[in-house]
Amino acid sequence: MSQLDPESAAAAFGRFFLPGPTEVHPDVLRAQTRPMIGHRGAPMQDFMRTLQEGLRHVFATERPVLLSTSSATGLMEAAVRNVSSGRILSLVNGAFSERFAKIAGACGLEVEIMEVPWGGHHDPDDVGRRLAEVPYDAVTVVHSETSTGALQDLRTIASVVAGFEDTLLLVDAVTGIGGAEVRTDAWALDFVLTGSQKALALPPGLAFGVASDAMMARSAVAANKGVYFDLQVFDANLAKLQTPNTPAVSLMYALEEQLRRIRAEGIEARWARHTAMAERTWAWVEETAARRGIALRVLAAPGHRSPTVTCVELPEHLPGPRVVAGMKERGFVIGGGYGKLKPTAIRIGHMGDHTVEEVDALLAALEEVIS
Ligand SMILES: *Cc1c(COP(=O)(O)O)cnc(C)c1O
Repeated sequence: MSQLDPESAAAAFGRFFLPGPTEVHPDVLRAQTRPMIGHRGAPMQDFMRTLQEGLRHVFATERPVLLSTSSATGLMEAAVRNVSSGRILSLVNGAFSERFAKIAGACGLEVEIMEVPWGGHHDPDDVGRRLAEVPYDAVTVVHSETSTGALQDLRTIASVVAGFEDTLLLVDAVTGIGGAEVRTDAWALDFVLTGSQKALALPPGLAFGVASDAMMARSAVAANKGVYFDLQVFDANLAKLQTPNTPAVSLMYALEEQLRRIRAEGIEARWARHTAMAERTWAWVEETAARRGIALRVLAAPGHRSPTVTCVELPEHLPGPRVVAGMKERGFVIGGGYGKLKPTAIRIGHMGDHTVEEVDALLAALEEVIS
């Protein structure tokens, strides 16, 4: 049977551990086959109301959640385009946070980078000191750095940035939302975004974001925002339970089904399941390294690890691509090390709808591959 055959894909659920796109449950895949509806009528408005309820639960917000037919990068661009001008402080600790800084530069903002090594995280006090020295219009941060598995202390960084009234906090939580604790309203995030294909375990193609009042006020006076990613346009349409343009209706059917499943589990239980999968993975790495006397280690420091993705550094005799290939032979898809980490590391995306039992099966196969 072909790997692209839907039935064989369903039978193999629990073996696809890329850190995005992630494995999509067969019920969610099937929901996409429903017939089209127009995007301006009452049926769409009812549908949007249901989606909003589910999305607000996921983002822990009472605010409208904007839905964009784009990949997550589209909303990273939206974040900086709606700030539009001025000085940005970009917290960089890996490939995606570097991308956020590049997007801000490409959109004409003056970008200053505060960098720590790959795998590291920022000390919120350092961020506070920097903001006290120089005024910034916004700070960009990646909550869960998918290239390294490092988790930023978003809650504390947000409370530090909140002390600077004129500084907005723009958060890429693409592998955070739906897998790691994020409380949009309680933590007062100014703009937080994610994509469909990571911890939400949907097919790729949709992105979601929430903007604070301060972000909307900034967006209202921002110049050269373009059209597609203008938050004012999203907001005006959301007020009528509509989208600005023709949305990816089929993906929204999948979203409806997945939001129903997430609601049934509960977002806090979903966070806890991700933590359990991550802890199992880290414990296996440490136990295996000790038992076998090999240099296997989790790249990110304890206490600063993402619950959705783990980057494992490998001993010299085990090249990353060989481990990825060995896992593939055993029917498991894992991620290679990202960019410069490709030769020396692997990444396991324990996110979405996976369980601790499926992670155990993955680790048993990994044990074989590295022996
Ligand atoms: C995957 C990812 C992105 C980019 O998402 P696209 O949907 O491919 O645009 C951005 N940031 C992080 C942290 C990611 O994991």
